[in-house]
Amino acid sequence: MRQKNMHSLRVYLYIIALGVGIFLLSLLLFSKPTPVYEEKEVPVLGTIVRVKVAGDKVSSNVLLNTAEQELYRIHNKFSPNVESSVVHKLNTDGRVEVDEEALFLFQAAYNYAVITGGAFDPTVRPLLKLWGFDDINSQKKVPTQEEINKALENVDYRFIKVDEKNREISLLKDGVEVDLGGIAKGYAIDLVIQKIKGIDPEATGFVDAGGDIGIIGPKFGELPWVIGIRDPFSQDALKSIDTIYLTSGAVVTSGDYERFFTEDGKKYHHIIDPEDGYPARNASSVTVIAEKAMIADVFSTALFVLGYDNPALDYFTDFGIQAFVISPAGESVQTKGFDYFREKM
Ligand code: AMP
Ligand code: MG
Repeated sequence: MRQKNMHSLRVYLYIIALGVGIFLLSLLLFSKPTPVYEEKEVPVLGTIVRVKVAGDKVSSNVLLNTAEQELYRIHNKFSPNVESSVVHKLNTDGRVEVDEEALFLFQAAYNYAVITGGAFDPTVRPLLKLWGFDDINSQKKVPTQEEINKALENVDYRFIKVDEKNREISLLKDGVEVDLGGIAKGYAIDLVIQKIKGIDPEATGFVDAGGDIGIIGPKFGELPWVIGIRDPFSQDALKSIDTIYLTSGAVVTSGDYERFFTEDGKKYHHIIDPEDGYPARNASSVTVIAEKAMIADVFSTALFVLGYDNPALDYFTDFGIQAFVISPAGESVQTKGFDYFREKM
C-alpha cells in the first residue's frame, strides 16, 4: 500500500516536472528576446543626428547604415552650402529643375510660409548671411541697420515661384536666396523613419536631430520614450523643465540657446523675424508635437517668430500640432491638448 502511494507520488512529480519543462520550452520558443538598441551619430544638417534603433527582422546595424546614407543624401541634396545641392543651384542660377521629392519640399516650405503669414519664410537666407547664421564657419556679428534694410528687400516667400507642371523652382528677383534649414531637419527625420520602417516595420527607437525627435517605435515595443524639454534659461544642456512621453510621432523644440553669439552683453540667435530682420525676441523656446517631424519643425520655428503673446496659438492646432511656448521672462502658454503628452500612457 505504501509502495503504491510512493509510486503514484513519483508519477505525479514526473507530470509536474514535464509540465514545467514544456512551459519553459514554450517560453523560450515563443517569447521574443528583448530588443537590443544600437546607436549612431551622423554630423549633417548643421547638427549631430543620433539614431537609436533595435531591429525586429533586420539587424540594428543594417538599419543604422541605411539611416546614415539617407541623412547624407538629404544633406547633400538640400544644404545651400553644398555646391551640388538643388538649393545651391537655385540660389546661384535663380532657377532649378527639380525631381518629385524636391518639388514636394519646396512646395511644403512655400505653403507653410503662406499658412504662417510669412513667420516661417524660406527666403530668410540673406539675413542669415548678415548675422553669420548661414554656415557654422561664418563670422557672427551684429549687422548695421542699413545692411538689414537692404537684405529685407530680398526677403519675401512670394519671390519664390513653384511651377508644379514644369517641375521648376525659380526666384523672381535678383538677390533672393533660399534656405530650407527650418524644414529640412524635420523632413530628414521623417524620411529616416520611413526608410527604416520600409525595411523592418516592427523596428523601434528614435531619431534625435539636436533635440528634434521622431519616434521609430515604442521602447522595447511597448513603452513610451521619455523626452525632456530643455530649460532655455540654463547653460546646462541636460537640465530639463518638462517631460514628454511619446510612443509615436515627433517633438521638436526651437530655442534661443541652439545657435547664438553674444555681443556687448546681448544674445543674438539663429531664428530671424522676417518682419524686421532681427533674431525673434518674443520667445525663449517653443516645443511642438505633431505626427510628422517636418510639420513640428516648421511650426516650432514659425511659432518662435510669432512669439509668446500670439493670440492665434490655438488656431494652429488645426494643422495637427500641439505647442508649448516659453517667453523670455519665463512665462509659458500652451495649446489645449499639450498636457496629454505629459502623461505616461
Ligand atoms: P529651428 O532651429 O528648427 O528653429 O530652425 C532654425 C533654422 O531655420 C535656422 O538655422 C535657419 O536656417 C532657418 N530660419 C531662421 N529663421 C527662419 C524663419 N523665420 N523662417 C524660416 N526659416 C528660418
Ligand atoms: Mg524648427
